[in-house]
Amino acid sequence: MTGMTDTPPEIPAAFNGSVNGSPAPAQQTAQGVSEIAGMLPQFPDAMAMVLRQVLQQVQVLTRQHLCAVCVAARKGWQAAHERELKAAAAAAGQAAGLPDGDPRAGQLDPAPFLPVHLRPGAGAEGMPPLTAALTSVSGTEVCSAHVAGPPGGKQLILASTAFSPSMLAGLG
Ligand SMILES: [Zn+2]
Repeated sequence: MTGMTDTPPEIPAAFNGSVNGSPAPAQQTAQGVSEIAGMLPQFPDAMAMVLRQVLQQVQVLTRQHLCAVCVAARKGWQAAHERELKAAAAAAGQAAGLPDGDPRAGQLDPAPFLPVHLRPGAGAEGMPPLTAALTSVSGTEVCSAHVAGPPGGKQLILASTAFSPSMLAGLG
């Protein structure tokens, strides 16, 4: 190591955990989480249970499974609009200065280069969103918008054997 420059590597303020002498936001968050975890035994049981559930939900969310209904909708949309998607990807590549036919164009976001009526949020024909799954119904991971199955149909629930008629009757 003596042959190398003996200047210590400089740590940017944002990474060494302090900005102007106060803890950086990430460090504050980390401290907050460990403080909550440390306080858990002091909380009444009900409160601790709620906090544990919240922590579990955070872990589930960070797994980033996608809603199966959203994925199916997006796949169908992509198949139906393959031509427009390819043109949009090529335009995205061109805008990014990539040479014609560069495969990296496929990794760019084609959405801004789609025809207006196909862009995300454009309406019935717009690119369907891919939403992270929040829960699972009969082993199918779904987002909050698709818990009851695809719009217009209740396939997930009808196909399920987990819901007995009495349970459904009980739900009113
Ligand atoms: Zn969904």
